[in-house]
Amino acid sequence: METTRNTKTAGTVYLVGAGPGDPGLMTLRGRELIERADCLVYDALGAPAMLGWAKPGCEKIDVGKRSGKHALPQEDINRLLVTCAGRYACTVRLKGGDPYVFGRGGEEALALQEAGVAFEVVPGVTSAIAGLAAAGIPVTQRGLCTQFTVFTGHEDARKSASTLDIAGIAAAQGTKVMLMGMSRLRETLAALMAAGQSGSVPAAAVQWGATGRQRSVLSTVAGLADAVEQAGLGSPAVVVIGEVVRLAPRLDWRSRLPLAGRRIVVTRTREQAGALSAQLAQLGADVMELPTIRIADPSNRRDFAEAVVDAPHYDWLIFSSPNGVKRFFRAFFAVFEDIRELGGARLAAIGAGTAAELRAVGLMVDVMPKKAVAEELIAEFDRKADEFGGLAHSTMLWVHSEQGRRVIYDELMKRQAIVDECVAYNTVPETEDVNGTRARLQSEGADVITFTSSSTVHHFMALGIPLPAGCRIASIGPVTSATLAEYGLKPDVESADHSIPGLVQAVSRMVAQG
Ligand code: SAH
Repeated sequence: METTRNTKTAGTVYLVGAGPGDPGLMTLRGRELIERADCLVYDALGAPAMLGWAKPGCEKIDVGKRSGKHALPQEDINRLLVTCAGRYACTVRLKGGDPYVFGRGGEEALALQEAGVAFEVVPGVTSAIAGLAAAGIPVTQRGLCTQFTVFTGHEDARKSASTLDIAGIAAAQGTKVMLMGMSRLRETLAALMAAGQSGSVPAAAVQWGATGRQRSVLSTVAGLADAVEQAGLGSPAVVVIGEVVRLAPRLDWRSRLPLAGRRIVVTRTREQAGALSAQLAQLGADVMELPTIRIADPSNRRDFAEAVVDAPHYDWLIFSSPNGVKRFFRAFFAVFEDIRELGGARLAAIGAGTAAELRAVGLMVDVMPKKAVAEELIAEFDRKADEFGGLAHSTMLWVHSEQGRRVIYDELMKRQAIVDECVAYNTVPETEDVNGTRARLQSEGADVITFTSSSTVHHFMALGIPLPAGCRIASIGPVTSATLAEYGLKPDVESADHSIPGLVQAVSRMVAQG
């Protein structure tokens, strides 16, 4: 029988594998689709940070188990996906690992096909392989095994008799990987041994594999259930049986990372958290992104647009932040097609990130202080003023946010420059708990909380969440530290060079010192 396309449904549903939990293990295609999605359907296993990639206004629907609520039954998810396709051009159904490895992705694809909905599948990195690798266990190894078996330990609740081929699995050669096996671990291992599986073969369980929360236990088939219980490991975890487990002590690179096992809170905006989070995660941290603010249009969009159009007439353009550069050039290229329309203005910037954004549009900075603070920019201007024939009567356009200090304006005016303002954006409180981090921070606590600007401090305080007990504070620089002091808080560590890499270094040093 031929399926006819339902004419009412114009949208496409993408079944996207999210990988085991590290956002870095998502495919490029997957990320691109999340960024494009009008609607995102996800459950608890996906990496929460990925939700932050969605564009503003994207509808996010959680169909997983969360805070005591039950997961939506599969039939309802199937129906929901069909409904979304009727409403949105691009729906992304985000699934942990690979969508077709015990993820019921096949059922969703069939439901979409039956309803005549266009769909595509984007494979993901499965925890069955990546979860082991992250704990130092290669799924195959020459000389140790020539095959691997992946099976599910969790039976379909509606089936009464076991459909697991226990005897077959027990007799199989090579590496055996069990997903969804933690709740019945003891029974399943006992059944395997009763069916002939040797109890002395090495075995391991890896919880939250390939994420900052990873914990693993190494044992044997006979000893694993007790070891897991003792260590308090739970779901989600992969269980692996086989000689390859012996390699773990030598190949377990993840637990040797400097920030392994540390939970670190990032309080930047959704748009900006990426770089800091990625650097911390690379060092092994369990990063919790707690977006407290969001970058919005300036209150006076007309003034902003006019300032951008006038920009080519200035001697100097001064950028205070990466956001300012991004917003400025988004508006600039909406009006002008060619960067040469900007004219020959000299450029000043605060911060390496700001300079990097300028470089991205092909512009080099003429004046940038070593330390990313306004006073240092003024000092740098003073040092170099002669090179530029002095500052007096120079026309300057200062691109900045609605909030923040006015040092640059005041000091340059004192030097008789003619300074106009281009207010490019506004930072507003993030009202949604977009990724469930607020709830997690309150229930699980954290080791370190990072502040990357005064506004992140103000906005974090505005959330009214108490700092978890024992949580240390890291500040990006003296201005941010001074704002912390306004709230009676003292940072445990302050970055020396007021940059994201500097902050990451400071946190690492603090953690290393214990
Ligand atoms: N489609 C997924 C598997 C879904 S079934 C995949 O390809 O990975 C859910 C099971 O996957 C969990 O019970 C657990 O066994 C495993 N799992 C998923 N993410 C994991 C992770 N980060 N670490 C360990 N196990 C994980």
